[in-house]
Order: sequence, then structure tokens, then C-alpha cells
Amino acid sequence: MQFPRFIPLALLMLVLSIIGTTLVTQFVRDWALTELKERGENQLLSIISQTRSELAEYQYLPFLVSQSNDVAELLRVPSPDNIARVSRYLEQTNLVAGTTALFVLDTQGNTRAFSHWRAQQNFYKVSHRNQGYFLQALEGQQGIQVTLPTPQREGAIYLSAPVYVLSRLRGVATVRLDLGLLQAGLDQTGQYLFSKKGQILMASKRFQTATELQDIVKAERTTQLYDGSEIQQVELAQGGRALLQAVILDDLGWQVSVLNDLGEVVRAQRNATLFAIALCIVISLLVFLLRERQLKHISRRETQQALERSEARQRDIINTAQVGMITLDNQGQVLFINPMAMQQFSESMQRIQGAHIDQLIAPEMLQGVLKKTLSRLGSKGFAPLIAMETVGKRSDSSHFPMLFSIKQMKREASANYLVTVIDITPRKRLERALQEANDQLEHKVHERTQALKEAQDELVQAEKMAALGRMSSAVVHELNQPLTALRTYIAICRKLIEQNQTAQLENNLELINDLISRMAILTRQLKTFAYQKPQHMAPVDPLLVLDQVLSLLKGRLEQQQIELVYLRPELNLQVSGDSARLEQIFLNLVTNACDALSETEVARMEVQVDHNKERVEIRVIDNGSGIDEQSLSHIFEPFFTTKDIGEGLGLGLSIIRSIVRDLQGDIRVDSRADSRNGYTCFTVTLPLIRQAGES
Ligand code: ADP
Repeated sequence: MQFPRFIPLALLMLVLSIIGTTLVTQFVRDWALTELKERGENQLLSIISQTRSELAEYQYLPFLVSQSNDVAELLRVPSPDNIARVSRYLEQTNLVAGTTALFVLDTQGNTRAFSHWRAQQNFYKVSHRNQGYFLQALEGQQGIQVTLPTPQREGAIYLSAPVYVLSRLRGVATVRLDLGLLQAGLDQTGQYLFSKKGQILMASKRFQTATELQDIVKAERTTQLYDGSEIQQVELAQGGRALLQAVILDDLGWQVSVLNDLGEVVRAQRNATLFAIALCIVISLLVFLLRERQLKHISRRETQQALERSEARQRDIINTAQVGMITLDNQGQVLFINPMAMQQFSESMQRIQGAHIDQLIAPEMLQGVLKKTLSRLGSKGFAPLIAMETVGKRSDSSHFPMLFSIKQMKREASANYLVTVIDITPRKRLERALQEANDQLEHKVHERTQALKEAQDELVQAEKMAALGRMSSAVVHELNQPLTALRTYIAICRKLIEQNQTAQLENNLELINDLISRMAILTRQLKTFAYQKPQHMAPVDPLLVLDQVLSLLKGRLEQQQIELVYLRPELNLQVSGDSARLEQIFLNLVTNACDALSETEVARMEVQVDHNKERVEIRVIDNGSGIDEQSLSHIFEPFFTTKDIGEGLGLGLSIIRSIVRDLQGDIRVDSRADSRNGYTCFTVTLPLIRQAGES
């Protein structure tokens, strides 16, 4: 599998995108945190200054009360009048100043006068001896104390001042301010907390139910910003995260904290991340596009270069090719011709350029397929022509044989057809030489065949003559004997007639008749040998013919004590022939077997019949003397015989063979020569004309 080329670039872009996105996200987060921090700092400042100015508004009140003569008088003489006067004074001052309560304590911490004397008489029973603001004032200082809010009471600030009467500390003037008074102005500033030693003094609405700092802040984490400053990120118990900024007011021992939700930082961070990712995608796409364009440009340039190189190579090949090449336009006009073609046609580029291709072909060859192909140049019906043998025409009008091919060039813009021409003059010359050699050879073969035929004819003639000689001597021998005897008997007859002994004449005439019969048999045999094959064949059952022959020779078999083994199959077979000729075949084979068995002690003859759908095979087997190898090769020749003169003419097997061949059959012999225990088997195969069936 090929490694896609854009993968390294994609990986690089991915890494750069991740780094870029991380940096942008971090920067935006830090920037948003810095913004939030600055806002928190401003909030803190505003809360502190507001708190301080609020407190400053009330801080003079204890002094004011401590300077009152009525108050001094009361502390000196706590008469009911004095109490009533001071109480009214405190009531009015409280109303005017907007504080929660004003009261004057004696040095024992007991209440001597109280702004709310009308409604809260119980207040007089409460001792303030242990309260911080009382103890601080007793020491001559300005006292301040904060009480934490409880379920029953709101948290409050107590401000106190010592009351001196004639330089002697006589009591303590105290102002109580509910924390709610301070809080009213702070609620605009955001989420804040006032705490002391982890206890919540007051808080913005969201955290009002909490009593301790840990009810609000679950976990803290310090984060360093890019400018090196640190911020406190806290996890809120109510859920969410916030930026915590706190300042401790040393004089009051309060910790003022401002909490700003980090939600907007997270949002800004998320937006920045999304923006950075989108930007990276856009940049990556741009880079890819540019890269792709650049690669395309490079590839186009490379292709162009390769094309130019290939064209140059092609031009080189065409110019040095040993084949004539011509390019044609759609009209069949020559656009280009390579040096080889110029040489073949004895043409120059200037002369041939623009000429029609027809001019390069011998006019008499412009017909048939070639003409049709050239006429279809530039049309859709054009079919290429490959290696067509035709004749080219040179500029000097001389001709040369050529192999002409033309095909369309699909990729070439200007040229449409490429013609290739191969001059086949040398090949033609060779072909001609080969043809001549062939003709000579054929002539020689013909001559030799003729000579051979003549020799064969001579041989046949010689064989014929030899056969004729053999036949003549046999016939002469066969005829001479009875003729000599005839002459003798005729002389005797003549003598007997002269002597008038007619009684004996009859005997002699009988003998003459016998001799004539014998000669007739001989001539009949010769006639059979000359017999032509019958014109009309008829279906014959060979087994019936065999039956007749065996019954005819039954007497001889018995006489010679020959055991005949013949399991005659009950078949109805049909061969095409005539029964006389079939009879001749079987008669001859059985007679020959009888002759061969004449010297055998236990003579045995076997007849076998085999057949299939197409042919029947009849075998005549005997255990007679057999045939020696030399005789076996001549056995079917006419006039070949091993029998004594007068006993056989040697025509039987020769006649059988020609009959069997006439019947489209075959005869074979298999034999072993042995005077005591020989073996001979003649097999006659004949084609069947009808399928054999059990009768
Ligand atoms: P003829 O019987 O007149 O000699 P044939 O052509 O019938 O002529 O036979 C040729 C020769 O083939 C015979 O002389 C004999 O030697 C040989 N021959 C034919 N049949 C047999 C046989 N069954 N066993 C041995 N020899 C045979």
C-alpha cells in the first residue's frame, strides 16, 4: 500500500494546531483571569472604602454621647430623672444618627440608659461586663467589637468610648450598629464575604445562609498567570468555581473577600478554543490547498518534462527506426515521414509533405480492402489494417513489395494516423528462390516416383511372369500326365478297333472319360482364380454356409478320424456376399486343415465363432503339421503350395483372400510348425450387415 503523501503534512498541521490551540486557550484564559482579578481588586477596594466610610459615619457617636453633661450627671447620680433625660437623649440621637441602638453603661457593665428604653426594658437586666467593647473602653480606648449573627439576632458592630467625669472614668457610651446597615450599601458590589477567624460576619445574598467560611469554599487552588502573579481559584460548596480575592483589615481583624464566578473565564476559554480550532482548520485547509496546488504545479511540470523527454525519445526512435513510418492527417495527407520511409520511397520531406498517401502506393493495388480503408480515413467507420502485403511506388515510379499497416493514433493532437511500411523485397526474393527450389524438388520427386513406379511395374511384371511360370509348369504337369495317358489309351483303342475287340474298348473309353473329367476339374479351378467379384451382393448367413460345408466334408472327417469341435451358436448372422463364395472360403480352409491333419495321430479340428455388433470372426484351428515361418510369409501368394505336384495348385488361399477382401473382410493366419504337434489357426473376419440376435 502506498503511503499517502499528505500524511506528514497533515501530522505537522495537527501538531501545530494542537500547540496553537493550547497557547491561544491558555492566553485567553490568563487574560480573562487577569480581567477578573482586576475587577475583583476594584470590588475589594470599593467594599473596603465603603465599609470604612460607613464606619466613619458612626464612629464619632460614642464620643458625642460621652461628652454629654447629662450622661456625666447620670453616671454620677443615677436618679430616675437623669435616667429618663439621658434615655430620651439617646432615643433622639439614635433616631437622628440612624444607628441600631445607643446605651450608656456604668463601670460595672450595667446599663444606665438605653435608646429603646420604652420597648425593651429587659435590656437593663443584661450585664455587659464581659463584652469586648466594654472592656476596651474601660481601658480608656475606643472600643469596637463585632458579634456574629445568630439565628435569633443579626450580627452587629459595637462602638464604645469611655465616659470621664472630672477626669475619672465613670462609664461607657456604646453604639450598636446592625451589620445589615453596612450591608445595604455593599450589595451592589457583587459577591463578597466578611469573615473573622473563619466565621462569616456578613455576606452577599448568595452566601447569607452560611456561618463559616468552609460552608462556602470547598477547595482552594493557586494558579500562576503568565505575568507571574498568582490567583486563588476556589471550588464553591454550592457548585461552580470562583476567583477568590481577600484582604485582612488589620484594625478590625476582618477578612474581606470577593468571589467572582469563573464561568465567564471558562466560557471565554471555550470560545477561544473553538475559535482557535476553527482558525487552525481554516489555516490547515489553506495550507493543504496551497500545497496541493504546488504539488499539482510540480507534477504538471514533471509530466510536461516527461512528455517532452518521451517525445524526444519517440522522435529518436522514429528517426532511427528500420521501419518506414508516416503520419497522416484526417484527409490522408502526409504530415511527417521518417528517414527510413524517405529511403524506401526515394522521397524527401519537402516533396511528400501534404501529398496524399495514395501517391505512395502502386495504382493497381488501390482496390479492395486497402482502398476501402484509405477512403474511410477521418470517418468513424475506419478500421486499422495490419501488415497487408501490397506494392509501394517510389518517386521514380518504380515499385517494390511492402507490408503496409495503418492505424489511428488516439493520443496525438495533430497527427491522426500512423502508417508503417516494411520493404519486403529481400523476403520476396527469398520466397521466390524457395519456390524455385521447391519446384525443382517436386520435379525430382516426380521423376523418382515415376522411376520407382516403372521399377515396381517391372517387378510386378517379373512376379507375374514368375507366377505364370509356376502356373504353367503346374498346369503343364497336370495336363501332360492325362494327355500322355489319353494318347496311350487312344492308341490302345485304335488297336482294339483294328483287332475288333470292342468289349475291352468300353473300359478304355471309361478311363479316357475319367482323364477328361480330371482335366475339367483342373480347368475349373483355374477359372475360379480368374473369376471377377460379383456385381450384386446379397445377405448371407455365414453359419448356414459353414453348416453345409461341414456336412459335405463329414465323410472325409470320419474317414481321417478327425475330432471336430464346433459349438455352433444359435445365431442368425448376416454378411453381404454370396453363398457360393463363402462356401469356397470355408471349404478350402476345412480341406486344408484335413490335408494338414493327414499325418497327425490324434487329429483335432476346432471351429470357433465370435461376433460383436459390427463383425463376425470365424476361426478354423487344427493341430496338424503347422506352417514354417518361411512358408507363412508366402502362404497367400497364388500358386504357393507345399503339396506334391498333382495334389495342390496353391490357389486356394490366394482365392480366399481376394474373396474376403471383396467382402470388406480380413483373413489372418497364426501357426506353429511341428510334424507331431503343430498348430494352425485361420481367422476370417467379415462385417455384419444386421445386428446379431439370438434365434
Ligand atoms: P493348395 O492347398 O493347393 O496347396 P492353398 O493355397 O490352399 O493351396 O494352400 C497353400 C499352402 O498352404 C498349402 O500347400 C499348405 O502348405 C499350406 N497350408 C494351408 N492350410 C494349411 C494348414 N491348415 N496347415 C498347414 N499348412 C497349410
